[in-house]
Amino acid sequence: MKIENYINGELVAPTSNSYLDNYNPSEGKVYGKIPNSNELDIENAYQAAEKAFPLWSTSSVEFRSKILQRIADLIIENLEELALAESKDNGKPLSLASAVDIPRASSNFSFFAKAITQFSSESHENTAIHTVNFTLRQPLGVVGCISPWNLPLYLFTWKIAPALASGNCVVAKPSEVTPYTAYLLAKICIKAGLPKGVLNIVHGLGAACGNAIVSHPNIKAISFTGGTKTGEHIAKTAAPMFKKLSLELGGKNPNIIFSDCNYEKMLQVTLKSSFANQGQICLCGSRIFVEESIYEKFKSDFIAKVEQLKVGNPLEKNTDLGALVSKEHLEKVDTYVKKAINEGGVLLYGGKKVEVNGFSQGYFYQPTVIEVVSNECTLNQEEVFGPVVSLMKFSSEDEVIQLANATKYGLSASLWTSNIDRSMRMSQQLKAGIVWINTWLNRDLRTPFGGTKSSGVGREGGLEALRFFTEPKNVCIQYSID
Ligand code: NAD
Repeated sequence: MKIENYINGELVAPTSNSYLDNYNPSEGKVYGKIPNSNELDIENAYQAAEKAFPLWSTSSVEFRSKILQRIADLIIENLEELALAESKDNGKPLSLASAVDIPRASSNFSFFAKAITQFSSESHENTAIHTVNFTLRQPLGVVGCISPWNLPLYLFTWKIAPALASGNCVVAKPSEVTPYTAYLLAKICIKAGLPKGVLNIVHGLGAACGNAIVSHPNIKAISFTGGTKTGEHIAKTAAPMFKKLSLELGGKNPNIIFSDCNYEKMLQVTLKSSFANQGQICLCGSRIFVEESIYEKFKSDFIAKVEQLKVGNPLEKNTDLGALVSKEHLEKVDTYVKKAINEGGVLLYGGKKVEVNGFSQGYFYQPTVIEVVSNECTLNQEEVFGPVVSLMKFSSEDEVIQLANATKYGLSASLWTSNIDRSMRMSQQLKAGIVWINTWLNRDLRTPFGGTKSSGVGREGGLEALRFFTEPKNVCIQYSID
């Protein structure tokens, strides 16, 4: 299977005619070829976007909204094909791709199709001096969207939809590890009648193709989701050009469990927040802090549940954990586990690669639980981004706030308690962009999404995304009353 770039409304080969291998992580084998694009492809994409901008940016909101809704509908019409492609490309369970990833990609378009029709500007009148001030919100021009491999179509569309809704034209690059659904999206956009050049999707490596987007002098803003190191690099490259940046980066999120919580619900959800998508979600609660009075009980109940998780063929219905995304990532996860044990962590469950029947070359790894005694250990400080969680006990609210905040990251935090006062206190004190109380990964698309500290800069979601992709302009009119 060979995929192509989507430039100026057409599916085209890379100018170099060079292609990269694309792996199926469950089989550990090459199953496709993807364009190895370079600066010239990005330039072609930019030119197409620039040419499309005058018409798209001045088209009516209703027109843009209608096209976006058509894309959302077509995603749902093609849900089965998209979910299968996502599962094969990424290794995630098909059930997850069908229930979460692809429906959410559709919701991203339908949400912004509606949100843009309600995006109004504020105005201020001063009758004493007869002025009216209002704020024009204008699209930025050509913008760049760069996304990672963990939630491929979900995150790709989370950027593209608000950018297009607010009148920008886009040069987008999905992860080279999971490019397939972005290719299918291109076909959907053609079918939906998206005008030529409004969205351009270029496939290739980050260092070549992603960097060419970031360093392009006329691409006005970059919306990026990925690793913190890549985010740093992007920020440095973009700074001299004063590009607007939205950076959604890594996390090392605390999951804080108090003895007064709804225990059964907490246990069920903690299993998900630890291992959903093989732990490859930036919001996974990879540091579990448990109040000491229930620590031993939690430990044995949690391990009993983890033991029941099935690692297997992602296409089978009862599979809980599929394959990790790549061989390199599998090795990285395994290295972190070994390091945690070397640093004194106690392996409570997992810690090994899994050989799944019929998939001897696949990148499968056991859900892994490690008990740690210090928050300073590498496992509690660095993002593993795999099915590995640490367990640690705490004795007081103050102590756990200090522990939770003591990493360079600040993306999300979960808190399990029935004490409303504590919930309010702690949600103010936790240094994170999102605090979930008695829930996890509960997302209302109207709310701001993003991290603090090394987890990122800026916010996505709802109005924040539409604000990011538009420039506010103050217009002041002085009227005469004569
Ligand atoms: P990555 O940073 O390696 O790659 C992300 C994207 O950036 C890819 O498309 C890649 O090709 C591109 N890229 C790489 N180098 C680049 C460069 N120099 N210039 C421009 N683009 C470049 O990240 P990944 O391994 O694909 O994804 C995993 C990371 O993403 C984890 O750290 C995870 O926490 C993070 N993530 C964050 C969020 C969030 O919302 N905060 C969501 C999902 C994933």
